[in-house]
Amino acid sequence: VGCPTELHRRANSVSRRDAFPDVPAEVRRRMSKIKKTHTKPELMVRRIAHRLGYRFRLHRRDLPGSPDLVFPSRRKVVFVHGCFWHRHNCPLSGALPSTRVSYWTPKLERNVERDAEVRTKLQALGWEVLVLWECEIANADAVEQRLRNFLGWARH
Ligand SMILES: [Zn+2]
Repeated sequence: VGCPTELHRRANSVSRRDAFPDVPAEVRRRMSKIKKTHTKPELMVRRIAHRLGYRFRLHRRDLPGSPDLVFPSRRKVVFVHGCFWHRHNCPLSGALPSTRVSYWTPKLERNVERDAEVRTKLQALGWEVLVLWECEIANADAVEQRLRNFLGWARH
């Protein structure tokens, strides 16, 4: 079915239902709710980072986990994680799907393991890592504050 990054990207694509028919109905409902309130979480973060004046690159494939936003001069990266796919401890993440447990549980657990591995690898290479969760993105002020705390002030 593809790697977690691919799953994540597809889960956030315009036609979620068509792109990912395996997603349980309950999850699809949650996803469509999110989409209505704040479109694509990663795009929101990009917009905010851009507005604050930071220079960044997207999905650098030469780095572990192809981080969503890469700030090369600061040696810092930001991931924008979907709550369901990366098992955030929040209401949006919800319980594990009750159908096809043997399919979903290992897949989602593997995502969480991989996230930890990616973080360790990046840190070993001298990169600092910030994770922003899908459920936090609706609050633009909070995202702005977290980016500033993490990155320091942008040089204009
Ligand atoms: Zn969450």
